[in-house]
Amino acid sequence: MDPADGDPDPRRGLPSVDRLAQRVEGAARAGGATGAMPGWASRAGARSALDAARAAAARDGPRSDFDAAALERAALAAAERLVAPRPQRVINATGVVLHTNLGRAPLGQGAARAVAEAARGYADLEIDLETGRRGSRLGSVAGKLALLAGAEAATACNNNAAALVLALAALARGREVVVSRGELVEIGGSFRVFEIAAEAGVRLVEVGSTNRTHLRDYERAIGPDTALLLKVHRSNFELRGYACEASLGELVALGRARGVAVVEDLGSGALVDLRARGLAGLPPEAFVPARVASGADVVCFSGDKLLGGPQAGLAVGRAAAIEAMRASPLARALRLDKLAIAALDWVLTALLDERLDEIPVLARLLEPAGSVEARARALVEAASRAGVGAALALRVLPDRAPVGGGSLPGFELDTWVVEVDAAGGAGAPNADALARSLRGARPPVVGRIRADRLCLDMRTVDPSELSALADALALLARDATAASRDGVR
Ligand SMILES: *Cc1c(COP(=O)(O)O)cnc(C)c1O
Repeated sequence: MDPADGDPDPRRGLPSVDRLAQRVEGAARAGGATGAMPGWASRAGARSALDAARAAAARDGPRSDFDAAALERAALAAAERLVAPRPQRVINATGVVLHTNLGRAPLGQGAARAVAEAARGYADLEIDLETGRRGSRLGSVAGKLALLAGAEAATACNNNAAALVLALAALARGREVVVSRGELVEIGGSFRVFEIAAEAGVRLVEVGSTNRTHLRDYERAIGPDTALLLKVHRSNFELRGYACEASLGELVALGRARGVAVVEDLGSGALVDLRARGLAGLPPEAFVPARVASGADVVCFSGDKLLGGPQAGLAVGRAAAIEAMRASPLARALRLDKLAIAALDWVLTALLDERLDEIPVLARLLEPAGSVEARARALVEAASRAGVGAALALRVLPDRAPVGGGSLPGFELDTWVVEVDAAGGAGAPNADALARSLRGARPPVVGRIRADRLCLDMRTVDPSELSALADALALLARDATAASRDGVR
C-alpha cells in the first residue's frame, strides 16, 4: 500500500483512502440513488472522512477501535455532496420572496430562455452589427433602464455593492463624502457602508446622531473638500420613535446650491409602482422613478431584489454622473457578464411591456392571499393522494411573512401556510427534525418554523412544484411512522 496515498495510522486501524473509496463506490452502486460514483469523488470523500476521523482521534485521544460503518457513511455522504450539482434547485416554502440564501430573485421562463440562448453561442455583445465595429456592451439595458426610471442615463454592474463602490470612486475618490450616522448600516454578507467607503478611496464625514440627522448637519459639514452627500437606505432595520432625517429632495437642493453631488444607495428598488398595483403597504421610497425625479445624481439598487431580475447593480440618474461611473477603470473590473445582461434585458423589456406576471418576484408579491390559500388547500389534497396518512397532521392556516432581501423591514405580506406536525406519540419527530428531513428530499424543501411548528408557506411555492412537495410530505410521513414505531427522537 502506498503510504503517500494516505494509509494513515495502522494502530487505529483506519483504512487507506483507496480501500475506503472502493467501499464508497460499492455502497453507491448498491444504494442506487446517484448511480456509479466517479473515482475522483469517492477518493475525495474518503480523504475528508479520514481527515475528520483523525482529527477526532487527536481531539479525543487515540482509541483502539473506530466505527467502520460510520466512517463509510461519512465518506459516502461527502462524495455525494461533491457530485451533486451546485447550486441545485430547491423548493422555497419559507414564504420569503427575496430569500438571499436561496438565491434571491428567481428568473421566469422567458428570462431563463434568454440566458440559455446567450450562453449557448456567440452573441452581439460588443459589436454593432450595422457597422461591424465595436459596440456597447450595456447600450440596450442602459437605454431601457433609463426609460423605465425616467432618468437621463443609466448603467449597470455586478451587484449593488459594486455600484456603490463605483459611484463613490468615480465621483469622490480622494475627497469627502458626508453621510448620516443613522445610515451607517451593515447589510448581510459583511457589506458595511464605512468599509465600502474606505475601499472606494473616499473619506467619510459622519453627521448627526444615531436617531436624528438634520439638513443643517449636512450643511455644516460641507467644506472645500466635500464631493458628495450620500444617503443610504437602512434596509434591514427601522428607526422609530424620536427620529428624523433629511429627505432625498432636501439633500438634492442642498447639493445643487453648494455644488456637490448627491448619491442614494436605495438597495431594494422597483421600476413599476407596486403600491398602485395592490402592495399598499410597501414603503414609497422603493419606487425608483420617484427617487430619480427628486433630482439625485445617482440612485443605485439591486437587480435581484424588488426589480425581479438577475444579480446586478443598477445605477440611474444624471448624465454626467453616470458617464463618470462608466468611464471609471473600476467599471471594467465590475462589469456584467453576457448571461446577466441577457436576463436583465429580458426583464426590462417585460417591465416596459407591463408583463409583470412573467416576472416571478412581482407575480408572487402581487398575488392575492386568497389565491395563496387555494394553493395551500391544493397541497393538502395532493399530499393525501400521495399517501400522507395519519402520520402527519396538515393544517391550512393564515400567516404573515417578510418579503426579505434584507430590504424592507417591517413590511410583511398576508400569506397562507400548511402547518406540518407529526401525529405520533413520544417518539414523533419535532419541527426541527421534520424540517431537516424535508431539506434532504429531492428536490430539497426549505420551510419555516413558527412557534415550534414546521410551516410550508405557499406564497413562494410555484404551482408546478405542488406534486414534488406532496411527494416529499409522503416520504416524511413514512419516516415519521417508522420513527414513532421505533420510539427514537
Ligand atoms: C441589498 C443592499 C445592498 C447590497 O446589494 P447587492 O446587490 O446584494 O450587492 C447595498 N445597499 C443596500 C442599502 C441594500 O439594501
